[in-house]
Amino acid sequence: MNRPPPIRRDLGLFARLYVGEIAKGLWITNWHFWRNLVQHALHAAGLRQAPGGVTVQYPEIRRFVPDRARFVHRLTKRENEAPRCVACMLCPSVCPAGCIHVEAEESPDPGIEKRPAVFNIDLSRCVFCGFCVEACPVDAIRMDTGIIPPASTNRFSMVITKEELLAHTASTGTLRSISAKY
Ligand code: SF4
Ligand code: SF4
Repeated sequence: MNRPPPIRRDLGLFARLYVGEIAKGLWITNWHFWRNLVQHALHAAGLRQAPGGVTVQYPEIRRFVPDRARFVHRLTKRENEAPRCVACMLCPSVCPAGCIHVEAEESPDPGIEKRPAVFNIDLSRCVFCGFCVEACPVDAIRMDTGIIPPASTNRFSMVITKEELLAHTASTGTLRSISAKY
């Protein structure tokens, strides 16, 4: 389907020079700076209960994240340590970001038809919606690891493999960083 071209406003000379926009940006930055400074000063003088805004010094300091937040995935295991996943392809089908790649192979267990030979998740594309967890019919994938994906300068390093997903464990209540490859 051909989309209509976007409607663009004609910009006048003043707008095209960006002078007004730069002045507006500087005004907003200054307004927040001075407002915050006054709030800190009033708080220090005991005239205001709440302090001004403080930048969180991430990653040294981390903000509270509720236990029910969605973290980096893990693949759950059976009692014999085999992956619980039966490579049904529901999670890659439902994933809105198309970031799950599963390749199936025959399972050596006669009671199970398939297992994943490859199970990769590209965290650089994942939107942490949790649809994969909801869609899984056998509770094979969870997002309860407590691992927050850090930023990376290499998007290929943000692809986590089946082995890494199986090595992830459930959260122990503290937030964790992911492996050194990031
Ligand atoms: S959380 Fe959402 S975006 Fe991320 S892998 Fe699962 S379904 Fe895809
Ligand atoms: S993790 Fe669950 S939904 Fe995804 S392929 Fe495996 S069994 Fe299917």
